[in-house]
Amino acid sequence: MEDDPVIVARGLRKSYGRRRVLDQLDLTIRAGAAIGLLGANGAGKTTLLKALLGLIPVESGRVSLLDQPSSALPPAVRQRLAYVPQAPAQFSWLTGRAMLRYVSRFYPTFDWEYVQALSARWKLTLRTPIGALSPGQQQRLSIVRALASRPEVLILDEPIASLDPATRIAVIDELIGERARRPLTLIFSSHLIGDLERLCSHLAVLSAGRIAVLEEVQWFRGLVRARLEADERLLADVLVPSAAMTRKSGEGRRVVLLQQAIADRLRATLPAAVDITIDRPDLESAASEWMS
Ligand code: ATP
Repeated sequence: MEDDPVIVARGLRKSYGRRRVLDQLDLTIRAGAAIGLLGANGAGKTTLLKALLGLIPVESGRVSLLDQPSSALPPAVRQRLAYVPQAPAQFSWLTGRAMLRYVSRFYPTFDWEYVQALSARWKLTLRTPIGALSPGQQQRLSIVRALASRPEVLILDEPIASLDPATRIAVIDELIGERARRPLTLIFSSHLIGDLERLCSHLAVLSAGRIAVLEEVQWFRGLVRARLEADERLLADVLVPSAAMTRKSGEGRRVVLLQQAIADRLRATLPAAVDITIDRPDLESAASEWMS
């Protein structure tokens, strides 16, 4: 049902050696949501997506995916999921068609008509060995494979990094169309915020091992950035109502992200000795505030 949680992660912790990548991470994703996952290089996006899918062991915490623990997903649940990894581990000696034939055995819903239609539209040859395809063509094939299994939950890890702009647009359009045509819950990790803005209902930022923010795209668009400057002691007493994010940018300086109406209220109540300047950041710089 729409709005039911499809993915629930609680207290996830994962380290590689001494490097803690996920740290008590909580996340709830509801049916039908399309989450754009952002985070600096090395923030742990790939690690998180693999942990959600039960592909790597975690130190502590739990994930449920379609109401089942992701560490032990039964085949009937796996059939409802698709994953496009960052570097598709595809069978380089097989042709695209042979790989799809192999994969289709695991998915009763696998749709060959859709494969034909989409590969024709995306000018993707299925007769060439995968190892002879360019990285961009391999990415396209990987997305065709994932979509053709008609998943309910689709997780894509930077799937468009090697694509030319026209193909990138075509992939995003296809995903938008799929979301409109049938129930689909999506997580899409990318650094290309313009694409996420078009496709996604929500944006989430992974930082310091946790989901620092997860809100609707519309909410990010409504943010303004207020810079407050005053004597540090005076500034310490200023109460910022419902700030989305506050960071100290130096002694006597604060940067606050908040909705326009709240910023207006703040401006009206500030002591005269506090300087305030307000600007409207674009979506990219607004979301980036959570990455630092
Ligand atoms: P990017 O945006 O660059 O793709 P990311 O957010 O997906 O990065 P991850 O690939 O999850 O980040 O990596 C998070 C951290 O974990 C990095 O410091 C990385 O070096 C480390 N890491 C990831 N996988 C392994 C591994 N198998 N062994 C050791 N360290 C790893």
